[in-house]
Amino acid sequence: MIKTIPQLFILCLFLTGLSTSLHSQETDKKLYEIIDKVSSDSIEHDIRKLAGFGTRNTFSDTVSDTRGIGAARRWIKSEFESISTRCNNCLDVFYQKDYVTPEDGQRIPKEAWVVNVVAIQKGKKYPNRYVIMSGDIDSRASNTMDYETDAPGANDNASGMAGTMEAARVLSQYEFDSSVIYVGLSGEEQGLFGGKGLAEYAKKNNWDIIGVLNNDMIGNIEGVDGVIDNRSFRIFSEPVPPTETEEERRMRRFYGGEVDGISRQLARYIHENVETYMPEMNPMMIYRLDRFGRGGHHRPFNDLGFAGVRIMEAHENYNRQHQDIRTEDGVAYGDVIEGVNFDYAKKLTAVNAINLASLAWAPPAPEKVEIGGIVEPSTRLRWEPVKGEIAGYKIYWRDTTSPQWQYSRFVGDVTEFTLDGIVIDNYLFGVAAVGKNGHESLVVFPSGTFR
Ligand SMILES: [Zn+2]
Repeated sequence: MIKTIPQLFILCLFLTGLSTSLHSQETDKKLYEIIDKVSSDSIEHDIRKLAGFGTRNTFSDTVSDTRGIGAARRWIKSEFESISTRCNNCLDVFYQKDYVTPEDGQRIPKEAWVVNVVAIQKGKKYPNRYVIMSGDIDSRASNTMDYETDAPGANDNASGMAGTMEAARVLSQYEFDSSVIYVGLSGEEQGLFGGKGLAEYAKKNNWDIIGVLNNDMIGNIEGVDGVIDNRSFRIFSEPVPPTETEEERRMRRFYGGEVDGISRQLARYIHENVETYMPEMNPMMIYRLDRFGRGGHHRPFNDLGFAGVRIMEAHENYNRQHQDIRTEDGVAYGDVIEGVNFDYAKKLTAVNAINLASLAWAPPAPEKVEIGGIVEPSTRLRWEPVKGEIAGYKIYWRDTTSPQWQYSRFVGDVTEFTLDGIVIDNYLFGVAAVGKNGHESLVVFPSGTFR
């Protein structure tokens, strides 16, 4: 059919209007704004400042104002406090600390306080729900028991610490439904003591933790093998929590869920958000707790049953981590400023910031998600309603071999739904809550079945 000009004009108007409204449902302009606000200059400033404390070994000097971990944590605390001043005291800043002695681990040369610096931006609707971004205050030389040799730790892990402070600077300009925590953890190199301390503190205070985004080395783009890549980064997540019961383990054999634990759902969420809002990046889901045989500060949270992932560069440079500064056979060793790409650290900081924001703007995830459909042509799901006003729920599913959710259906504000013609045997399923602002909770994998 040939259309007249007025008809075409009306059709165009209609299509434009349609695409605009679909668009505004799918993405939130504020997240693009957040990405733009993250500054590589302030990240560079903070990394230089942190590296300038000489060493930040957990057992280094705590009295000096210019050298050692004491000076470093006091400076971080004062930075969080000045960020707070600029947002009408929106941050609650404090030290959380635990005392360690040589009996507590093999990498503890003497008694000391392991001190974390915590800044909490309280949520307006769900103040007891927390999404956490962490970096580390401490650094190490070749010998981690040596707390006097210079250990600038520019990438490991001033980069993660600086990113955390920058995220606080940007996100403190917004208000969220859930609380956001920015934290500098200590004692990482000595056996993950700072993370352990804060995870226990969270448990004791009944924090409802949505997830921990642990940033450890987010500034190196040049691998030890010479690969240079400023777009790729890794999201490490364990498959299922170590706290699961024997019964849960037994059930998994029959109903699935081997790769669908809470930390893995958090990793999928981050991956999806990055593909949507930062398509120029290349996020890599790594299906393991951490690098092969190595550790990071999300683990102590995982140990207590909290969701947590490690975000880090894709290509490590082992000459530039855990090394005394020196040149040997023409090779330069040491974790110095020259090894950090500030623009890349900015990108990974933005990755954190948009995910903190979107999780803190999202409603709580549905609870008691159950699934049915055994020997039936369709799959049925039901769940407990989320408290508060929400737009509804979204059911996700994927092939059993797919790493990411592939299909989804928004089903409105109901508490059960049948996916006609979708055979339960051939897919894995989950349910998320969707807020009126369009932000989604983490996807919840079913924990029970019904007939
Ligand atoms: Zn390290």
